[in-house]
Amino acid sequence: MAGVTISVLLLLCGYVASEPARFDGHKVLQIVPHSLQELQQVLALHDLYDLDMWRHPRKGNHSMDVYVEPEKLEPVLGALKTIGAHVKVWIDDLQRLIDEEKSSNKRSFQLPYTSQGRNPGFNHEAYHRYSSIVQYLRDVVTATQSMSTVNASITTMGYSSEGREINVIKVFRGDGVSRPSIFIDGGIHAREWIAPATVLYFINQLVYGDEFDFAPQLLDKFDWYFAPLLNPDGYEYSHTTYRLWRKNRVEQGRNCYGTDLNRNFGYEWNPAVGGSTNVCSDVYSGSQPFSEKESQAVETFILNNRQNMMAYLTYHSYGQMWLYPWGYTSALPADWQDLDAAAKVGTSALSQLYGTNYVVGSSTNVLYSAAGGSDDWAKGGAGVKYSYTIELRDTGAHGFVLPVNQILPNNRESWRGLAEFALSLNTNRGFHRG
Ligand SMILES: [Zn+2]
Repeated sequence: MAGVTISVLLLLCGYVASEPARFDGHKVLQIVPHSLQELQQVLALHDLYDLDMWRHPRKGNHSMDVYVEPEKLEPVLGALKTIGAHVKVWIDDLQRLIDEEKSSNKRSFQLPYTSQGRNPGFNHEAYHRYSSIVQYLRDVVTATQSMSTVNASITTMGYSSEGREINVIKVFRGDGVSRPSIFIDGGIHAREWIAPATVLYFINQLVYGDEFDFAPQLLDKFDWYFAPLLNPDGYEYSHTTYRLWRKNRVEQGRNCYGTDLNRNFGYEWNPAVGGSTNVCSDVYSGSQPFSEKESQAVETFILNNRQNMMAYLTYHSYGQMWLYPWGYTSALPADWQDLDAAAKVGTSALSQLYGTNYVVGSSTNVLYSAAGGSDDWAKGGAGVKYSYTIELRDTGAHGFVLPVNQILPNNRESWRGLAEFALSLNTNRGFHRG
C-alpha cells in the first residue's frame, strides 16, 4: 500500500526524481539591425521561430538579445545573414554559466562572508531559496524587537498557487507616527534571481544600518514595505528544475504551465500588446486581469495601503534601466517629468560607486510595448505617483545568470540609488491622486 502511494506521488511530481534541465550549447545572440526595416524583419523571425527575447529593442537602440536553442541555431543564423543584421554571440554556452553559478553559490555559503550589513545570520552574497528567505524575514522581525529605533512586521499578502507564502515586511520607526510609504517588490519573474537578492539587501541596510548612513534619514521620512519574492513557486522551480523559468506554476492544460504575472495586472490589460493568449507562451497574460493568486495578493495589499503610498518600485533583471509608465501605450503620463527627474537622481547616485550606467526612460521608449505590467497598474489603477520598473545588472554578458560575485556590487549601488531617489522626493506636496 505504502509502495503504491509512493509511486503515485512520484508520478504526480515527476520532476522530483528528474535532473534539472540542461542548456548545453544554448546561446544568447545580440542582434543589431541597421534600420527600422531590418528590425521589423528580425522581429518577424523572432515570432516565426518562437524565440525567447531576453532584452527588447528600444527607440534609439534597436539591439536585442535573443535566446536560441541548438536546433534552431542554423536556420536562425542563416535568416539573420539574409536580413543583414549584425550578430554577436553574447552567451556561447548557457550551461557553462549555470554550472559556474551553481558552484560559486555553493562556495559562497561555505566561506565566511563580508556583508556590508551588520546582520551576522544571513549571507547577502549568495542566491537563497524560498524557505531561507521566509526565515530571514522572521529573523528580522525578531531582531527589531530589541531595537529602539526601528520596527518590523510581516504580513502574508496571500499564497501562491502551490501554497507558498507571499510575504511583505514593513520596516518603520515604530514611534506611532504614520509616514508616507514606499512599496518595493522583487522576483515577479522567477529566473531573475538578482531581484530578490537586491530587495533582501535593502531590508538589511534599513534595519541594521548602512555604510552611507542613509537608514536613519530614510526611516524618518518613510514607512517601507518590501515584498522580496512575489513568485515563490516559479522561483523554486527555477532552482530545482528549470533555471530559465519566468512565469508562475499554475497548470494550464496542453502540458503547459504558468502565467506571466507581469502581464496579468489589471490596468489596460491586453494580451495583444506584448503578451499572449497562448497558455504555452512565456508571456501568457492569464485568462483575465488578476486571474492569478500572486498578482491578486499585490493588488489587495496595495489597495488597502495606498492612501499614503508615494512610490512603487518593482525590481527585475536585466538591462540596467530605470523605467516609468506607460508600458501599454506610447503615450506618457501627465506628470512624467517628475518621474523622469526622480529616476535620474537615482541612477546618477547609483553610478557613483562603480560607474555602472543605467538608462532612464518611459516604457514608451520600448518599441516592444507590454500591457498588464505591475508598474502601469500601480500608477493607473492604484494612483501611486512614482511607479517604476528597475532592470538590474547586467547588459547581457550573463543575462539572467548574473555571477555570484556581482551580487554585492549590484546591491550596494542599487541601495545607494534607491536611497538618494527616496530622499529627493518631496513629501510635502500632494502626491496622491486623492
Ligand atoms: Zn522581469
